[in-house]
Amino acid sequence: MNDIKIFNSLEAEPPARVKVLFPLPLFKAYDYLLPIGVTAEPGQFVKAPFGLREIFGVVWPNEAAVSDDKDVGRRWGKVDLAKLKSIIEVLPVQGLSPDLIDFVAWSADYTLSPLGSVLRMVMRSGDALTPRAPQTGFVLSGGLPKRSTPQREQVLAAAGATPLTAARLAEAAGVSDAVVRGLAKAGGLRAVEIDPDPPFSAPDLSRMGKPLSEDQLFAVGEIKKQIDAGGHTATLIDGVTGSGKTEVYLEAVSAALQKDETAQVLILIPEIALTLPFLGRVEERFGAAPAPWHSEMTAAARRRTWRRVGEGDPTKRARLVVGARSALFLPFQNLKLIIVDEEHDNAYKQEDGVIYHARDLAVARGARAGFPVLLASATPSLETVVNVDEGRYSAVGLPSRFASANLPDISLVDMRSDPPEKGRWLSPPLCAAVEHNLSVGEQSLLFLNRRGYAPMTLCRRCGHKMTAPNSDTMLVEHRFENRLVCHHTGFSMPKPKACPSCNAVDSLAPCGPGVERVAEEAVARWPEAQIKILSSDTAPGPRAMREVLDAMQAGEIDILIATQVAAKGHHFPNLTLVGVVDADLGLSGGDLRAAERTYQLLSQVTGRAGRDVKPGRAMLQTYQPQASVFEALVTGDRDAFLAAEAEGRRYLSFPPYGRLAAIIMRSGDEVVLDKAARDLLAAAPNGDGVEVLGPSRAPIYRLRGQARMRFLIKARRGVNLQAYLNDWLGRVKTPSSVRCVVDINPYSFL
Ligand code: ADP
Repeated sequence: MNDIKIFNSLEAEPPARVKVLFPLPLFKAYDYLLPIGVTAEPGQFVKAPFGLREIFGVVWPNEAAVSDDKDVGRRWGKVDLAKLKSIIEVLPVQGLSPDLIDFVAWSADYTLSPLGSVLRMVMRSGDALTPRAPQTGFVLSGGLPKRSTPQREQVLAAAGATPLTAARLAEAAGVSDAVVRGLAKAGGLRAVEIDPDPPFSAPDLSRMGKPLSEDQLFAVGEIKKQIDAGGHTATLIDGVTGSGKTEVYLEAVSAALQKDETAQVLILIPEIALTLPFLGRVEERFGAAPAPWHSEMTAAARRRTWRRVGEGDPTKRARLVVGARSALFLPFQNLKLIIVDEEHDNAYKQEDGVIYHARDLAVARGARAGFPVLLASATPSLETVVNVDEGRYSAVGLPSRFASANLPDISLVDMRSDPPEKGRWLSPPLCAAVEHNLSVGEQSLLFLNRRGYAPMTLCRRCGHKMTAPNSDTMLVEHRFENRLVCHHTGFSMPKPKACPSCNAVDSLAPCGPGVERVAEEAVARWPEAQIKILSSDTAPGPRAMREVLDAMQAGEIDILIATQVAAKGHHFPNLTLVGVVDADLGLSGGDLRAAERTYQLLSQVTGRAGRDVKPGRAMLQTYQPQASVFEALVTGDRDAFLAAEAEGRRYLSFPPYGRLAAIIMRSGDEVVLDKAARDLLAAAPNGDGVEVLGPSRAPIYRLRGQARMRFLIKARRGVNLQAYLNDWLGRVKTPSSVRCVVDINPYSFL
């Protein structure tokens, strides 16, 4: 701590002023004094008093904020220089890079979020700014101790060139700490400092990747040209699952890291469950593990990644990061390439706090800082496909699966003509296919994107539906835990014996299937088979999930019954049948992307079958076999499906042919909320090319005791929707009991 300078605000004059932005929901940076002789560049971390606390913030550039007295007077009332507080410390750590500052400011404008809330995403690794004391470790000194004992010999045998703490070394040698310290004193060991946040090993760029196919070589060549040329480009790597997209973009990573020896690269992936195997794959390619970033990491691991990504010394900086969407806000010093894997995935949309889509922000970041962004997908989003068609993005294609693997043969089961028995969910054709697989020793996956036992619990006597308290959300029965759980609010309760409405005993009946119920049926049908369930609550956490996935990969499971956690990325060599229990599930509801999402999810999950030498097949159980999305899946005609979807969206001027935003208002008081929504509507400015729909009740109207109203704002593509919304929201003062959030380009309409 002693190299941190402490400044006194009364020190001298004339004081310089700086803006400081705090990681709090604030729209502006605040003025502070900088003691004489002290300089603080934009981006540097400082500690400053704010209200009654002393907190960390960042020196913010002046342009966007207020700088002269006239402005200060206008916006904040007259600020007396003598009343300005002084910053307390300039932290001795590398500050934020100018392009990250620019990105934070741009993201706040784009998402209509407070600037400080976006900064908070950058500063999320709680204690990363305070230095941690180094530990002492011991390595072999090369010399021998003056006196040797059997215990000392054990320590010498356990020690090496990698420093270990006395406790770790003593444990490895099976002796006490005192022996280790004694040996060090006697000259057999040398004490060295252990960095509490050790640097990540640098990727070995001399290692070669796999020999590439002709298609892969072509794709890599195109991408390398862009990296060599410099500047921003956005490129879609378009290829079916298993076509080798990952191998292609790993070559791009190598090229970008070689081009500039201090460059950093970020690979975004949608699912935490996928990170572990993916990290292994990257390590294999570059001989060094990349820096990981996701919400399941320990605080210490997050701190290490955060500090090493933001490191000032380029030789100690993490060069390659693999992370979930929030990795976009890590303190990169010289980011030169972003890859968004599975770019269509909805997990990239963050729905609370600052609402953003990581793919869109990644492209914006690349465009502003002038570096390439690669988007990879087997089922690209319509937004991206239109961007390619209209020439804003380029595309490289990988038309077939790598080597001998072929795409699975997909067929429909018409549930009207081939219904399952009453109270069961698997149709005769699907059961026959599973039985065939059991008989030949191949694996099957039954896919149902619904956790728990039954999605709805209904009283057989009075028809009462079990809902979460003060919410219009269904309670889902989870039979393993014997509880009713709300998937929206997290509320749960033991399943009651009697109906809370009519008091009838044992009248609450499960309606419809979840994965647990399908598993129950499978166990009853195939008692000899090895059957496992995989969903986020039967295998909580990436490790538990990994165990099931590893067992599946090793062929220890005959039938896996899974939600979408099994849909992505995995490679099960002996899986040859995928049965989709309810293919219609995602199609209902007023979601403009329902068909597109169904297409993406079902092609992902059916793509798990036949990834190796054995051919695969998939069966979709549906009550609407005529739906165009199923026809597209069966014929494999993705482009025709996308063209039809695009036509529909163009007709309705929905994204990407028009712009869309939602305003969601919520309050515990329905009367106040109603009035606030009407007042907001009355204040809506007339905007050319802007259409305001609503207010209307949200489909889930009551959630955690709060009533919710929604506006939908549609605009022509050229309209500055953010400016319109700022103007509008600035005209009304909503009561403090009403919360109002803006969702630019909404994906959730609940
Ligand atoms: P995608 O990312 O398109 O799903 P991957 O890059 O994961 O495809 O490739 C699918 C499988 O094929 C992986 O097991 C990968 O290691 C293998 N593969 C891809 N390209 C090659 C190559 N050029 N040589 C050897 N194996 C390859």
